[in-house]
Formats: sequence, C-alpha cells, structure tokens
Amino acid sequence: MSATSSGRGSSAPPARGGWLIRGARPLGGPPADILIEGAAITGIAASGRAGRELPAGAGVTVLDASGLIALPGLVDLHTHLREPGREDAETVASGTAAAALGGYTAVHAMANTEPVADTAGVVEQVWRLGRQAGHCDVCPVGAVTAGLQGSQLAELGAMADSAARVRVFSDDGQCVSDATLMRRALEYVKAFDGVIAQHAQEPRLTEGAQVNEGEMSARLGLPGWPAVAEEAIIARDCLLAAHVGSALHVCHVSTAGSVEIIRWAKSKGWRVTAEVTPHHLLLTDELAASYDPVYKVNPPLRTAADVAALRAGLADGTIDCVATDHAPHPAESKETEWSEAASGMTGLETALRAVHEAMVSTGLLDWPSVADRMSVRPAAFGRLSDIGAGKQDMRHGRSIAPGSPANLVLYDAEPIRPVEPAAHASRSHNSPFAGMKLPGQVFATFLRGAPTVLDGRLTS
Ligand SMILES: [Zn+2]
Repeated sequence: MSATSSGRGSSAPPARGGWLIRGARPLGGPPADILIEGAAITGIAASGRAGRELPAGAGVTVLDASGLIALPGLVDLHTHLREPGREDAETVASGTAAAALGGYTAVHAMANTEPVADTAGVVEQVWRLGRQAGHCDVCPVGAVTAGLQGSQLAELGAMADSAARVRVFSDDGQCVSDATLMRRALEYVKAFDGVIAQHAQEPRLTEGAQVNEGEMSARLGLPGWPAVAEEAIIARDCLLAAHVGSALHVCHVSTAGSVEIIRWAKSKGWRVTAEVTPHHLLLTDELAASYDPVYKVNPPLRTAADVAALRAGLADGTIDCVATDHAPHPAESKETEWSEAASGMTGLETALRAVHEAMVSTGLLDWPSVADRMSVRPAAFGRLSDIGAGKQDMRHGRSIAPGSPANLVLYDAEPIRPVEPAAHASRSHNSPFAGMKLPGQVFATFLRGAPTVLDGRLTS
C-alpha cells in the first residue's frame, strides 16, 4: 500500500499472513505493538526504545499506527438495517459498511423490517445477508410479538434455535405495552438466557406526540411526549423482570427520571441493563425550534438537565452502554413538515466521535471506559462474549490481548472536522450532526484479523 493521506500506511499490500500494528495505544494507554495472525491477536508488546518490539515475520504487513487509540471492535445493540423491505433507506450491506466505518465489528439488527423479523426464516435471512456483506457480524433481533402487533408472542424459541441464534428480542419502534405479554416474554426467554429489550413508551400517554413535553412543546405548539410515558414503562418492567427473575434491557433511555429508576432497580440486584444513544448524550430539544425534522426522533430529544443526567448515568455505569439507534430514512420521509416526517437519525458513522465529544472531551469517561460502554458490555448483553471460540470465532468485546479474536478499531483522536452525511456509506443521510464539528476519525477496523476499513475507507 502506498503512503496514505493521513501520512500513515502499511509497508506492503495486505497479506493473508497477518498484521503488525506498530505504536497503537491500547485503550488510550502507552504505545504498543499488536501482532495479528490469522483471526486472532497473538502478541502484544510495549513499543519504543525502552520496549521489546515484536518482529515482523514473513507475510506480515506492518501498519504504522503511531498515536492511534486501539479499542476492541465496537458492538451496537440497536441498529435498524431496514432490509428486508425498506432497501430504499438502507440495506444490510450499506448499513454494515456504515458500521465498519464507525468502528463496529458487530451490530444487532432490529426487527421492524417488512416483513417483520418474527420467524426463524426472516432472522436467518438477515443473518445470511450479514455474512455475505462481510463488513461486520450481524446479530438479528427477533420481534417479541407477532408482526409487532403487541397481541401474541412471536416464535421466540424457533428464532433462538435458528442459525441466527437470536438472544435479544425487541418490538422496538413499538412498546410491548401489555403487562401480561411482557411478563410472558420475560418468562419465555429465561430458558435460553435471552433478554427482552424494551422500547419504553406508554402508548396512550404519547398519542400524536411530536416533541419533548415541556417548554418546547408549549412554545412550538406541538403535542408533547412526556417523560412519564417512558418512566412508567421502565418502572413497571423493572418490577416484572424482578418478579420473573429474567433479563430486561431498556432501549434508548432519554430522561433523568429513567436514570433514577434504573439506578434503583440495579441497587436491588435485578437483571436490568440500559443503553443511551449518542444523540441523547449530545443534543437537546432546543433544536426542535428549527422545525427541521432531522431533529425528530423517538424518544425525542430532551432538556439539558436530562442530557446531564444521562451523561452522569453512563459515567457511573447506571446506563451500561451506548447504542446508536441508527435509523436511516430516505430524504422524502425527512424533508417534509415536522408532524409528517419520520422519526429517527443515522448514527453508526458518528457514534464514537459523538461519545468522544460528549463524554471524553468533558472528562466524564476515559478510553478504557469507552471500550467498556461501547464494546465489552454490549457484547455481553448481546450474548457475544463467549460464543464460538475456535475456528468460527464470533466473540466480541474481548480484551486486546493474545488469544482474543482480532476485532479492533484504530481511532485517531486528533482531527476535529465537520460531519458530512453526504460522504457516509449509509444509504440515508439523516444525521443530526450534519455540519457539526466533532473530534476524531476511525482509521481502521479489523474483523477477525482482516481490515474492513483502512485509512478511513472500506477495504471492499
Ligand atoms: Zn425505539
């Protein structure tokens, strides 16, 4: 490979033999050389004069990664890939390309496709499309209820037993609002260590809701989406999870009150985990004053006080992880009146940069904690930490150490550049960060020892 635009490069064309990543900083620590052979990390040593450098053997490509931060490949618990059915918005191939460019090596694909991923057939289709695309591992999320209709359970066991090996179930986009159904779903997935990921939105309290209920909804004259509609469901579901002894994951937590409820549930020792999106960490409902539907999302952007509580919750571990809720929409669904526009924002290609801005630049998280919140914990909740060690190694969220699968992101923390959605690999460009200056740039992503992204570009 020739010298690259960033001045970094590798000494030879990518070889099958392996990679020697020189001078990267694992978890932002001191520089080290990381040796990758085949699909695994086989060596790591401090680099520089004082250290003992790993030798580059035959067939090993040397990559100068001086100063780059090395993190375990990121894992997203909440991605909308839109295929099957809405390939105008995204495909498995385009969405996973976006994921790789954002530093992800595994994403969980939400079930609200057309048809809905509520059978073994559909989840296996999505899983196979992910393997064909090859940019990152795709873990299909199964619907909790048939057709996301909220009236009867989907074929949870058949999806769990399928080749897609579904462990996370969600009606995301819809709330499983019926308490009896939610209880039965929690009971059902216990048998195979599954988890129910709830989109917490009390439907009657949010009929026609458009923006956060409060000062902004009053000022803009738009129907409000009250915090209590989220908090009431989270409280109920924490109690149900405790009653059943099962695992609940709360999607896209957006209010200060929700953080408090989850903190309380965790203090009881209940099996409750939670995620927050990059946009809820960085943006507030003030943006709705522009009436630009790029800022329309569900749950809505909240107040600065909510943002502060979400950041504090992520920092102290009450909120376990960052999940993108990457929700691509074609231009015609977004470039319309606010009340007509679709809800959702793209996020895969900007998540690490947004977390850098919201959490690292503010001193709330260090890089080891970023690795924990964006790789280790989501991999554990997606049941990806331990599966398939060996030939077809599907493990994610492992430490950067010999014996771990070589799933890595190399991140350049230095540049500060505006976000340019037109340059994104996602088929949709509805990024709320468009034009915003954010730090950082993913330099490379490795999936099982092979680069999916190199010098900020897809390798295939
Ligand atoms: Zn949702």
